[in-house]
Amino acid sequence: RSSLFFTHTNKELVSTTPTIQGTMASHIVGYPRMGPKRELKFALESFWEGKSSAEDLRKVAADLKASIWKQMADAGIKYIPSNTFSWYDHMLDTSALLGAVPPRYGWSGGEIGFDTYFSMARGNASVPAMEMTKWFDTNYHFIVPELGPDMNFTYASHKAVDEYKEAKALGVDTVPVLVGPVTYLLLSKPAKGVDKSFCLLSLLPKVLGVYKEVVADLKAAGASWIQFDEPALVLDLESKELQAFTAAYSEFASSLSGLNVLIETYFADVPAEAYKTLTSLSGVTAFGFDLVRGTKTLDLIKGGFPSGKHLFAGVVDGRNIWANDLSASLNTLKSLEGIVGKDNLVVSSSCSLLHTAVDLVNETKLDNEIKSWLAFAAQKVVEVNALAKALSGQTDEAFFSSNASALASRKSSPRVTNADVQKAAAALKGSDHRRATNVTARLDAQQKKLNLPILPTTTIGSFPQTVELRRVRREYKANKISEDEYVKAIKEEIRKVVELQEELDIDVLVHGEPERNDMVEYFGEQLSGFAFTVNGWVQSYGSRCVKPPIIYGDVSRPKPMTVFWSSAAQSMTKRPMKGMLTGPVTILNWSFVRNDQPRSETTYQIALAIKDEVEDLEKAGITVIQIDEAALREGLPLRKSEQADYLKWAVHSFRITNIGVQDTTQIHTHMCYSNFNDIIHSIIDMDADVITIENSRSDEKLLSVFREGVKYGAGIGPGVYDIHSPRIPPTEEIAERINKMLAVLEKDILWVNPDCGLKTRKYPEVKPALTNMVEATKVIRKQL
Ligand code: GLN
Ligand code: ZN
Repeated sequence: RSSLFFTHTNKELVSTTPTIQGTMASHIVGYPRMGPKRELKFALESFWEGKSSAEDLRKVAADLKASIWKQMADAGIKYIPSNTFSWYDHMLDTSALLGAVPPRYGWSGGEIGFDTYFSMARGNASVPAMEMTKWFDTNYHFIVPELGPDMNFTYASHKAVDEYKEAKALGVDTVPVLVGPVTYLLLSKPAKGVDKSFCLLSLLPKVLGVYKEVVADLKAAGASWIQFDEPALVLDLESKELQAFTAAYSEFASSLSGLNVLIETYFADVPAEAYKTLTSLSGVTAFGFDLVRGTKTLDLIKGGFPSGKHLFAGVVDGRNIWANDLSASLNTLKSLEGIVGKDNLVVSSSCSLLHTAVDLVNETKLDNEIKSWLAFAAQKVVEVNALAKALSGQTDEAFFSSNASALASRKSSPRVTNADVQKAAAALKGSDHRRATNVTARLDAQQKKLNLPILPTTTIGSFPQTVELRRVRREYKANKISEDEYVKAIKEEIRKVVELQEELDIDVLVHGEPERNDMVEYFGEQLSGFAFTVNGWVQSYGSRCVKPPIIYGDVSRPKPMTVFWSSAAQSMTKRPMKGMLTGPVTILNWSFVRNDQPRSETTYQIALAIKDEVEDLEKAGITVIQIDEAALREGLPLRKSEQADYLKWAVHSFRITNIGVQDTTQIHTHMCYSNFNDIIHSIIDMDADVITIENSRSDEKLLSVFREGVKYGAGIGPGVYDIHSPRIPPTEEIAERINKMLAVLEKDILWVNPDCGLKTRKYPEVKPALTNMVEATKVIRKQL
């Protein structure tokens, strides 16, 4: 067989000698789709804007897929995945495969094309998109299937088999990957109009009907392996949900015969009960486990593994950017080999590499020392194979020894360790810091000082970021304009924002955050212990990517970060000006974090840095300080048994940031989600004076907590309008919302504010929306 490949660096056609597969027992769960420089993002967006054709888009995708397959084949990977590419999302792909298209998209059967597919993902002129939600505890969002008893499942997307054939034509025999049928259903929701109690798992037989057709197709195309991702197995499942796995795979077994079947799990260990279920499934040849996050998996395997089956051992972390500790991994693998047997062990990534950055090669700004500590997806592929080779007795000594010295340098580097910070953070553990005075007394003291009207109005922090503003920041970063020019421009922007808020008659002002590009990056750039990449993008949803900072060392604050701008802003008005900070838990959850110490330790360090900033703001005369914890909920562990511990140190870290302030200094926090009914007690335990929260999109879920009798004594501002939409909320509508809140919450703790920051909106939307918000507040104040 000869094969055609696009080379990785130049997109020129070259022919390569056939790859020799089957030498190393190595496997990759899945790979990033966006490309090393977000090629897919730009191709998608240009296609959506009508600037390029479907053919152009397909060409970009084909090149990306080919280069990924080639890269893995060249590295020596034996089990190379296919169908892990996606135009938008792999759950949406599964809905397409099953023909599970909600009727509102008007799909009339046949193969699902871009039109229907992208309408489901993004909506179109007449129909909104399907709902999107977080994929387990990652920052990746998937399109939630909407199902009901009437859904007519049909085999409507041949993408899986097409991709298999596409790779095969290039000389690579791949393992096609599908989201497993049970995980698919467990992550679905009942469609609109379907009874909420409808049992989604009752759709299993119908769904399996289509899976069987796909499997038959893949077999006919020559596939010898198939991978079903069933990460739902790591969740707290009820026994009837576990039984669904048993039922599904025994129903499936005869169709799967003749194929090697891998069931892949990831993101945590599989609970003991689920482990039993999983390893007893019929027709399954191999099991994949996350040995990085699955801290108990090793014990489970030691406790018993079905003989003759393959173990795919995920030792290379797919969720982070650190180089693997190869010798430690090798030890783990050797002990596993003792249990399952030499021929049954396959080295793998802990999960799909979708959740890490793509290729370190494109990092031109990181210094060599830090770079030597890192491995992005492309490097992880090489690590996996090096481990497999070492297991087979062909250790690449040079590779192992350079890995060992990189690890040693990371351990001993003075850039990583700051003894004072470590000591201070360690001292916080196990104690319970909180402000001395209780919140009611503090609110009284603050009111005496601030003298705010009832139902005080405020906004969440950012104001619209204009093209002009972004240009100023960019040019300053590139040294194209002087510091003086930059400061002048930003101050002018702040003045505009302050004047506007005074004109609107808002009570507690913000400076608008014009100096910030991103609420985490801005602080990371000023704290020590953080590094930034140029191309370290990770897909968040569709074509959207985030570029998390890398926390590599002990965190400290060399100098004040926001005091200059906040004091400047305060000097422009007599009204209180909120200091605006990002909280430690959010900084943690939106970064790539250290794997050489517990997350709690890193968070405590950040908390101490933010604490210094809070106290400096207070000294500078700022009397209201908002500490955003937008992402507090995101770090919540998947399993209930681990949640209490997380919430404890997360909430503790938040409190540490403001234990040093006087009673008269008012501490606000903000959260951008409303599904926190289950963690409301932790939120109260944060002991902020005022909390502003997203609320307007949530069907009043939030208010129901208080209706059910949870006592809340601090200030609270449930958002009165949705900032994600350009729609301008009418005064009456806002007034009605406020009235609904007043029915549940005391009038003297209620604040009036939008759902979140206004950064993504435009002034022609923001001005009338805020005008109406203040107007509605005034109408209601008169009635109180
Ligand atoms: N203060 C930030 C802003 O207004 C908060 C953003 C957020 O909660 N995501 O932009
Ligand atoms: Zn928010």
